[in-house]
Amino acid sequence: MLAAIRAHDLGLKVILLEKSDRYGGTSAQSGGAIWIPNNYSSHPGDSTEAALAYLKTVTEGAVPEAKLARYAEVSVQMPAYLASLGVHYYVDPPLTAPDYYPSAPGASPGGRTMCVKPMDGAVLGEEFFRLREQQPQHRLLEKISIDIPEGIQLSNKSKGWIGTLLRIFANYFGNRRWRRRTYRDQRLTLGNSLIGGLRKAMLDRGIPLHLKTAFTRLVVKNGRVVGIVAEREGNEIQLSAARAVILASGGFEQSQPLRERYFEHSTRPDWSATPPGNNTGDGLTAAIAIGADTEFMNEAWWAPTVKMGSNFPPHTVRSVPLFFERGFPHSLAVNRLGRRFVNEICSYHLFGQAMIKDQTATKANLPCWLVFDATFRHKYPIGALLPGSMVPDKKLPPDWFDHLIYKADSLPALADKIGVPVTNFEETVARFNDNALKGIDPDFGRGTNRYNLYFGDPSHLPCRVLGPVATAPFYAVRIDLGDIGSKGGPKTDTEARVLHTNGHPIPGLYAVGNAAGSVMGCAYPGPGATLGAAITFAYLAADDIARDA
Ligand SMILES: Cc1cc2nc3c(=O)[nH]c(=O)nc-3n(C[C@H](O)[C@H](O)[C@H](O)COP(=O)(O)OP(=O)(O)OC[C@H]3O[C@@H](n4cnc5c(N)ncnc54)[C@H](O)[C@@H]3O)c2cc1C
Repeated sequence: MLAAIRAHDLGLKVILLEKSDRYGGTSAQSGGAIWIPNNYSSHPGDSTEAALAYLKTVTEGAVPEAKLARYAEVSVQMPAYLASLGVHYYVDPPLTAPDYYPSAPGASPGGRTMCVKPMDGAVLGEEFFRLREQQPQHRLLEKISIDIPEGIQLSNKSKGWIGTLLRIFANYFGNRRWRRRTYRDQRLTLGNSLIGGLRKAMLDRGIPLHLKTAFTRLVVKNGRVVGIVAEREGNEIQLSAARAVILASGGFEQSQPLRERYFEHSTRPDWSATPPGNNTGDGLTAAIAIGADTEFMNEAWWAPTVKMGSNFPPHTVRSVPLFFERGFPHSLAVNRLGRRFVNEICSYHLFGQAMIKDQTATKANLPCWLVFDATFRHKYPIGALLPGSMVPDKKLPPDWFDHLIYKADSLPALADKIGVPVTNFEETVARFNDNALKGIDPDFGRGTNRYNLYFGDPSHLPCRVLGPVATAPFYAVRIDLGDIGSKGGPKTDTEARVLHTNGHPIPGLYAVGNAAGSVMGCAYPGPGATLGAAITFAYLAADDIARDA
């Protein structure tokens, strides 16, 4: 959408095709945050050079320096550009998380991640109803929009949280006219606000968007991409492209065959937190068919996910990412041998990479388990499940127990239920508990870096992220190797041009977002790095096409 708007504003004629009956993709269901080094509110000392040093370290030489430099230099223009389109980003310094590799040179202690301001969905008119909804698990009571600062305040119960909750409820339930039309919240937040704002900018410009129109292959003449073939309501249509085609069709995380072909271990699309069924690697397959090179095919933006029940639609079960819950005290993660394998409150991407490594070594990790006790359950949320103090176990559907949530009166009984060896499990928990009481984790260093200490419970002593798993009943939820999108795809250059296996750009073909091999290589530098990269290279692609034209 951003590439389409930019190209239109540079004088090109644009058409946008969307496979599903909703626009917005995973981006609409995301947090909408963007990772912008050296933005107006970055930490003192941030600079393009610091960002480049950081990116070079975390990508471990797998990404050409020129491409990293392009991101470090151009991404900083994105907030002002988005604001010119009516999509407003800001930084809330106390709330922005540190970078995901806090000890790498050039890492930021916080300030690089920018949040999108909520918008009024009414300005979209009927297009409001074609915007892909935020997942119910990311809304209050599965219906009411919240933004990132509100979400953090409510989950930490930090100062003023009751007032915030009342204000959100009053806005939603008090909006009687809108309530008569739909249960959906008129206030769009997070990814819905980013996508809603971009859609509004498209409407203002009259840029056509065709839903239910799936791109299937590229048309090439004399080595140049000159059009595409798409499928629409069972019919094949061909469109010519005088200048270029930009692949922005997301990753391949929803394709079981492509997951089997490229990922190291067998995983499933329904473990992914992305919308089901659409991102099946169509751009990737089409690009490979005309000779495109590929990169980072065995990688995704990994995220541990748990299955949670939902009432939207009723009696459904979905995968929900555990972005921050792993940091609350009175919890630990074990593999199926009953052993810990990771500092639980590393970034969700690093957690996923640790699962893969442990699976390779032990064959006992996919799935693994998050274990917690009654204190945790009472105080803290997990996935879409509110703390027991707000929604006690007796209010949960009985069939969730020993299916989605395992519960037992003792640790050996819990180990039996989840099928891990009792002796190992008891040993692991005993050692973890002894150390947790002292506020240390000599095995994995939980609570020793800035990123870890951004999470947890600030009122918990001696360490906000460590507490014994000691109070019955005990609980476990199954952790799958989920993702929030795949990150391998056609190799692209500094201007998002797709490269042929012969090393040269394929004339007329660009790829951006998860439809391209990631500029971040195998790394996930910080919160917002996926959308930050997607929009920056979308902008560059449009500029390059216009320049060429
Ligand atoms: C819960 C959650 C929270 C997240 N939060 C953040 C965050 O705050 N910040 C961040 O940076 N990242 C976040 N992410 C990750 C981020 O959302 C994705 O990496 C990003 O949205 C990918 O963007 P994209 O444009 O490549 O793909 P998408 O946004 O998925 O868009 C691809 C679109 O292409 C369409 N499509 C697919 N195939 C075809 C075809 N053949 N023809 C036509 N159309 C097609 C799809 O239907 C879809 O609409 C989050 C993800 C999740 C799940």
